Amino acid sequence: MKRIVLTGFRGTGKTEIGKALSARLNSVFIDTDDLIESRTGRSIPDIFHYEGEERFRSIEREVMASLPSSDVIVSTGGGVVCDPKNMEHLRQNSTVILLVADIETIEQRLLKKPRPPLTSLPLHEEIAEMMDRRRRNYYASSDLCFDTTETSAVAAAEKITTLLSKGVSGQVQRDTALAFFNTGRLPPIPLKKITELLSDPGRDPLTRIMGVAGYPCAHSRSPNLFNALFDHYQLNYHYTWFEDPELDEIMEVARAIDAKGLSVTIPFKHDVIEYLDEIDEHAAQEIGAVNTVVFACGTAIGYNTDWLGVRKPLISLKGSRAVLLGAGGVAAGAAYALMDLGMEVTILNRTSKNAQKLAERFGCAWGTWDEFDRIKPDLVVNATPLGMQPDTRNPLREDQLSKDMTVFDLVYTPPVTPLIEAARAKGCPTITGLEMFIEQAREQFYLFFGIDVPAEKVRELVQ
Ligand code: NAP
Repeated sequence: MKRIVLTGFRGTGKTEIGKALSARLNSVFIDTDDLIESRTGRSIPDIFHYEGEERFRSIEREVMASLPSSDVIVSTGGGVVCDPKNMEHLRQNSTVILLVADIETIEQRLLKKPRPPLTSLPLHEEIAEMMDRRRRNYYASSDLCFDTTETSAVAAAEKITTLLSKGVSGQVQRDTALAFFNTGRLPPIPLKKITELLSDPGRDPLTRIMGVAGYPCAHSRSPNLFNALFDHYQLNYHYTWFEDPELDEIMEVARAIDAKGLSVTIPFKHDVIEYLDEIDEHAAQEIGAVNTVVFACGTAIGYNTDWLGVRKPLISLKGSRAVLLGAGGVAAGAAYALMDLGMEVTILNRTSKNAQKLAERFGCAWGTWDEFDRIKPDLVVNATPLGMQPDTRNPLREDQLSKDMTVFDLVYTPPVTPLIEAARAKGCPTITGLEMFIEQAREQFYLFFGIDVPAEKVRELVQ
């Protein structure tokens, strides 16, 4: 039997349900808090009091890494999901079930069996505050979600056993999805895989499907990258192409098969917002575009990781004078990232009214392309498709480049664009679009699974 891991806030029933599941499935039960206490010979409050939280987290990490890899049911501490290293260990070859309950139920359970407080807040507020703080980590940690509010431990164990043997989506939903994928758009190999996952009687009902939503998106590198990462981290997922001109269709299918999440690309980054229950503050209020959707516990949450993909490679250039070329979808995330790094930003665009519109949203300067020479920037970021295969144009003339100017081309096909080639010839520090792709993909993976993938691992897999 695969390892079953129960996560969730204190009072959601992890220990009681874990024991009941262990009795039903006739397998060993491990409570990681008990394991920490027996290994250290100290209670958890004592470890916190005498050795500090850092020490507790380090012991917790060692314990997570040492758990048996199969035939076991593991109940975890409420904060375990916040550490990406723990998630890397816990998720490996496991089914992670997130237990949730409403605040009142948790409060009643904790009043009956008090535990040391986590904050100085009254209990009800503490639960609300901590659950809210950790909620996205809980979602990222989970393969399945189960609400324990009105269920006894024994009844919950029975329902979870059914869930484990049948999966979430029924035959009708799988048929809907199969019709969607079976349109002849997908190449034969992924289509065969998705057909097996949806219709094969011997399929694993717990294999979750996710993918990239766009039109067109068959060129996307994300399926290869994510599937390789699933193999590497032993995650029971398959990532495919959700390519359709109608976003309505894509979202319907994603929900029907209980997809774990979607990477969203052109032309849906803005329109997808109306399908979501929640959006993070960067994606919604500021950038106005979502490139990552996480489905968990009946909610769909939108995030934007594009801006982080631009921000990360530029951290050491805080405060630069920057020119951003282009004012389209990716430029919005780039402008947000540059402003976040305290840069003096001018947006230059072919159509000046689009530059003005974007600049006014973020408080940047703006202008047309021919103003470039006047600005003398320390940094140029290309957010236009110029130089993207099969286009071979360079957005800047050679005499506009100088060796003290950092050049970041967001275009990543080809890996070395005409702009990057010219900038290198001039001696400029350069950053390729692959760096953005790598960083935004790492952020997505963290939002989907709670695991921090090293940049070198992603680079190795996409090159
Ligand atoms: P978009 O929304 O279509 O915007 C394109 C921008 O480029 C617009 O401002 C447009 O100006 C300008 N533009 C288009 N053709 C031009 C031309 N011939 N001359 C001058 N300006 C031109 O595209 P997007 O979604 O922002 O994507 C831009 C590029 O980012 C893509 O081509 C892709 O290579 C790159 N990208 C990279 C990553 C990564 O991970 N590295 C991810 C996504 C996208 P107007 O306002 O005048 O139309």
